[in-house]
Amino acid sequence: MGRLVMKFGGTSVANIDRIRNVARHVKREVDAGHDVAVVVSAMAGKTNELVGWCGDASPLHDAREYDAVVASGEQVTSGLLAIVLQGMGIQARSWQGWQIPIRTSDAHASARILEIDGSEISARFKDRQEVAVIAGFQGINPQTNRITTLGRGGSDTSAVAIAAAIRADRCDIYTDVDGVYTTDPRVVPKARRLDKIAFEDMLELASQGAKVLQVRSVELGMVHNMPVFVRSSFDKPEDIDPHGTPPGTLICSEEEIMESHVVTGIAFSKDEAQISVRQIEDKPGVAAAIFGPLAEANINVDMIVQNVSEDGKTTDLTFTVPASDYTRARDTITSAKAKIGYARLDTATDVAKVSVIGSGMRSHAGVAAQAFTALAGRNINIRAITTSEIKFSVLIDAAYTELAVRTLHTLYGLDQT
Ligand code: ASP
Ligand code: MG
Repeated sequence: MGRLVMKFGGTSVANIDRIRNVARHVKREVDAGHDVAVVVSAMAGKTNELVGWCGDASPLHDAREYDAVVASGEQVTSGLLAIVLQGMGIQARSWQGWQIPIRTSDAHASARILEIDGSEISARFKDRQEVAVIAGFQGINPQTNRITTLGRGGSDTSAVAIAAAIRADRCDIYTDVDGVYTTDPRVVPKARRLDKIAFEDMLELASQGAKVLQVRSVELGMVHNMPVFVRSSFDKPEDIDPHGTPPGTLICSEEEIMESHVVTGIAFSKDEAQISVRQIEDKPGVAAAIFGPLAEANINVDMIVQNVSEDGKTTDLTFTVPASDYTRARDTITSAKAKIGYARLDTATDVAKVSVIGSGMRSHAGVAAQAFTALAGRNINIRAITTSEIKFSVLIDAAYTELAVRTLHTLYGLDQT
């Protein structure tokens, strides 16, 4: 007997039929004797609709009221799943974030979980074998008593945080794919499903554009060493052997991974824009003059590349921002032109970032060099490069994204055979 958190995403609870399917998955685990807490997303498309309504009501709206509105999608699915479970003779009740409570910061629309009191849920496992059906994505700020949400995709984070709070043995994320792949299978049909992946590698994959899990949920899994299993909710519940290993990907600590490749996966993002500041003065304080105002404007800067000045007078500095922040970033730099002191801006919005990830890179030299040769062989020009211990990224023209990803996928031996 164990304790499980089962999380179901929007497509898995998109209508009552699918909610019934979810309930059968839950029943399977209950019948196997496990304590079960379920975390649900809103029905597919619901959150987008609610977000849209807030915008229609007023383009500039109170973030606290936005949270009151968008948190409602999960309230509906948690109640519906509890009703269906009860109809199947399973003890169950729904929980809103504030009822548990899931305490968060007051950063509305992107709140962080501070603390979860799992005691009542755990007590009910013991006293009456009650399944807890928890609304994902939402919490409450203890100071203001207002409902908060955790940012888009936040139900993943709710699930992992709850798993840690109730000391679950594992957090199962049921979704519309059957695991984590070496890259997006829609782009590379030869992409392979990974049986296991280390938290660190998964964190990079998710941060660099793989959309399987919210980044924060992986961070939490790593901090609490909570194994997270990504699996498909569309497998027939009755066909799953409760004692076997179903298809899926286990995200776990590095020690548990026996055989590992140097490169684990390749992520990409077309949601990038490049800004090059030309002929800035080469003196202390210019980087601060550029990135200070961007930080104040809450713009997340990703890649930063600055060259060493040739003449000791001027240099160029290139950085990237999310495409959605491009106009604001450009305007911010333009307004600060007098203070920064530069000749001109060159910008590009049709760019993509391709990232190669693998903790094996720590102990292998020349991994990036191979990529540069392979990309050159395909005539793909690299605009900028950044590296970290277990990852490197190249910025290229967006038109070459698919070709670059496929080339690198083959190069590092990731293709399915
Ligand atoms: N329903 C929320 C969203 O669409 C949270 C989630 O599904 O994880 O972003
Ligand atoms: Mg999601």
